[in-house]
Formats: sequence, C-alpha cells, structure tokens
Amino acid sequence: MSFYDDYVADGLCCESCGVLISLNEVGYSRRCVACEIEERQRQREAQAAARKARLAARRESRRESRR
Ligand SMILES: [Zn+2]
Repeated sequence: MSFYDDYVADGLCCESCGVLISLNEVGYSRRCVACEIEERQRQREAQAAARKARLAARRESRRESRR
C-alpha cells in the first residue's frame, strides 16, 4: 500500500480523481465535490436510461398483446 492509498483510505484524497479534499482524516474513502456531482449526474442519467428502457419494454409488450 502506497502513502497515496492511505490518503484515500483516510478520506484525505478523493478516491476517484485523487485531489486533496481536506487534512482531516475521516477514516473512510470518499470523493471530492466535483466527483460527487459527476457521480450524481451519472446516476441520474442511468435512471433516465432505465426509465426509457422500461417504457420501451412496456410499449413493446403492449404491441405484442395486440397481436
Ligand atoms: Zn474527485
């Protein structure tokens, strides 16, 4: 384990991009604000994609039942 891994594990550095978050050890790995926002954005996009897929599947099944 490098000192950098220690920093990440203690929550000093972002686990995603490695930027220094703070000098207070929190005892767990965490992300910086930028990566947190990016992650939330990614989750929202994933949810939107899942919703779209679900709607498409429902539309598909409706078409199937009409046959
Ligand atoms: Zn980051």
